[in-house]
Amino acid sequence: MHETAVAQNILDTILEQANKVSARPVRAIISCGQFNALNDEVMQFAFEAAAENTPCQGMRLEIKHIPLRAKCRKCKEVFVFDVYSFACPKCKAEESDFEPDAPLLLEEIEFKNGEDS
Ligand SMILES: [Zn+2]
Repeated sequence: MHETAVAQNILDTILEQANKVSARPVRAIISCGQFNALNDEVMQFAFEAAAENTPCQGMRLEIKHIPLRAKCRKCKEVFVFDVYSFACPKCKAEESDFEPDAPLLLEEIEFKNGEDS
């Protein structure tokens, strides 16, 4: 499953960072695009399973979904693509090209500062 591989990858990165700063991670924010979108529930579950018995156990994972955007061929307006109304919101042209999809990104790791790290 896609999420399992992603969870393992993210966990590895977080552990590496945690090691570097010698602190316990408490929260992480990841973002993903639409083509490789993650299922939140499956992802949470996969991450919890992967984090078991590591310093990441019990940390919170937040997933941000970045909408797909398109660029109008006529007026070059960039807008959030909606499959139900794909015309350009500015000039109403129905010809547009997709912008590159947002990559899967580990945006932020929050560490617990102080005492029992
Ligand atoms: Zn337009």
